[in-house]
Amino acid sequence: MPSKPRILVVEDEPAIADTIIYALRTEGFEPVWKSSGREALAVVAAQDIALVVLDVGLPDQSGFDVCRELQRRRAVPVIFLTARGGETDRVVGLELGADDYLAKPFSPRELTARVRAVLRRTAATLQPNGTNAAKLPAGWEHDEARCRIRFRNHALELTRNEYRLLGALLASPGRVFSREQLLAAAWDDPGASLDRTVDAHVKSVRAKLRTVAPTADPIETHRGLGYSLREDA
Ligand code: CA
Repeated sequence: MPSKPRILVVEDEPAIADTIIYALRTEGFEPVWKSSGREALAVVAAQDIALVVLDVGLPDQSGFDVCRELQRRRAVPVIFLTARGGETDRVVGLELGADDYLAKPFSPRELTARVRAVLRRTAATLQPNGTNAAKLPAGWEHDEARCRIRFRNHALELTRNEYRLLGALLASPGRVFSREQLLAAAWDDPGASLDRTVDAHVKSVRAKLRTVAPTADPIETHRGLGYSLREDA
């Protein structure tokens, strides 16, 4: 684990960015500042970013598009900064899988508290019982610090919810998880989702696993009950 979590701040107004960066640094984080979506995506691709603070109104593209692109690439928590307390922004942001949002103007202290809370929640989701890599079935590697899962020596390109879902299954091989339990493990606002969201995500994770090992089917379906990860991969 890096000693200081690196936080990417994507904000085009320098005065707001300065305040955020100062607050994050004071609270023991390592902030990185970018003012456009394009630069932000490049940073996430190249660096180990623990969380993204993302302004919705960016000069080159909307923060929502940036978030969508981020989630397609890898699992990274996002806190949106919205211009007003717009209900639409809030709903769209949460639908995109954002972990939290803050309406401007906000206090720096409020932001750092949210950052801490999201990081804590993410860590709790990923390590439900302080699992360690030694217990993973053969073929699996889970780098929790980098939010990466490898299967048979291939790094899986997972969206954040796919990553969390698979992470939950990996944390307890052989255990049958109900859809509700997987919803709770992989979504921040399980109430807003439907059971079939879990099915849809299991389906897409399976498709990604098949590209690595066409005949392997490491996720087992238990009719009427839910899913589990096979202990013998
Ligand atoms: Ca802006």
